[in-house]
Amino acid sequence: MTTAIKPAQDADSTRIAIVGGGLAGSLLALALARQGHGVDLYERRPDPRRQSAGAGRSINLGLSKRGMQGLRMVGLLDDVLARSVVMSGRVIHAPDGSTRYQAYGKDAGEVLHSIDRNELNHLLLDRAQQHPQVRLHFEHRLVRADKANRTLEFDTPDGSVTVQPLWVAGADGAFSAMRRELQHGERADYHQEYLEWGYKELTLAARPDGSSVIELTALHVWPRSHCLFVSHPNLDGSHTLTLFLPFEGEESFATVRTPEQVSALFAKYFPDLLPLLPGLLDQWERHPTGSLITTRTAPWRFGDWAVLLGDACHAVYPFYGQGMNSAFEDCCVLMAALADQPKDLAAAFSRYEQQRRPHTDVLAELSKANFVELRQKVQSPWFIARKRLDLA
Ligand code: FAD
Repeated sequence: MTTAIKPAQDADSTRIAIVGGGLAGSLLALALARQGHGVDLYERRPDPRRQSAGAGRSINLGLSKRGMQGLRMVGLLDDVLARSVVMSGRVIHAPDGSTRYQAYGKDAGEVLHSIDRNELNHLLLDRAQQHPQVRLHFEHRLVRADKANRTLEFDTPDGSVTVQPLWVAGADGAFSAMRRELQHGERADYHQEYLEWGYKELTLAARPDGSSVIELTALHVWPRSHCLFVSHPNLDGSHTLTLFLPFEGEESFATVRTPEQVSALFAKYFPDLLPLLPGLLDQWERHPTGSLITTRTAPWRFGDWAVLLGDACHAVYPFYGQGMNSAFEDCCVLMAALADQPKDLAAAFSRYEQQRRPHTDVLAELSKANFVELRQKVQSPWFIARKRLDLA
């Protein structure tokens, strides 16, 4: 392949670069553009909106008040809520098939909203693209950042491209190349931890008339000490189920492989789900197994040139349902810090990190603790009694 180098001086150095066009990157692009900034958004993947339906992972996310602030900031909250299903509480499914409902709060407004991650990302990219100040660059994978010369180098299908933005936001997810480059040669901390459990997504289809086979407006949890199922509802009456199971061990992704082993696992732990999942074996075969990671890092910034946000600086296990919500909160706090210090980017980045990092450190711990709660405590008599008192 020929390598076309786009010289740095060709790039518009008055524009801001965002690396990563996921949830945080596309929301930040829109927020900055609405403040009058020129933004170039660089995404490693091809345009996800051009992929056929069903391609990619179909993760549903629980949107909470924290994340809603970010969507409100860019004028998208109503559009997103129109595409989401309200979850007013959780339904706990016991091994004997009985269920128990636990409301999220006493007030009608204390709810979560279930939204398809791909649909949300597509909406954010659509709106970013419609803004005249935003340029989207797909199939641009960041490979190097030169902090001294303030340049970014991307691999593209047409060769290497180097740009020299005014400053850069790294929103390129848990395995962030921007973080690696930003911290290279610096006194930086980085810690990552893999969970010994992985996850697999399955779909619980709606009835032919579009009605849901289980209560639609709730999060469903099948807590078992050996494994855990969580389901988020979709607007079409279906549910996205996520099975969490150890990677290794007696009953694990390593040992549950054949149709007989899959059926046996469900018959033992989720007998109520088995008749609702006629295509289970086919789905099991086709859907990949994902892994889960927690990361902590510092610093999140480099002088007045670079700053990190979202999973790039704080990936958490999904059991507290706050990864996206906190990534959106990052965008709000960063925008406020920039508004307070418009002429001193280094100070704005520093204030943003000081405000956010203590919260995301706590979130990492809460997310780990909620893994235990979802598996065990939601079934315990103590927890149920406490929940009754809370709601009284
Ligand atoms: P990402 O969404 O990962 O986006 C990063 C983007 O950067 C990607 O598009 C990627 O292709 C791109 N990229 C990567 N490397 C490069 C590169 N070198 N150059 C250019 N681009 C690059 N959160 C919630 O709030 N609520 C939930 O209920 C919830 N449930 C979850 C369930 C599961 C099973 C999982 C796995 C996560 C869940 N999360 C939830 C977490 C949420 O998905 C993430 O926190 C959120 O997606 C983070 O957004 P982000 O933009 O920081 O990163």
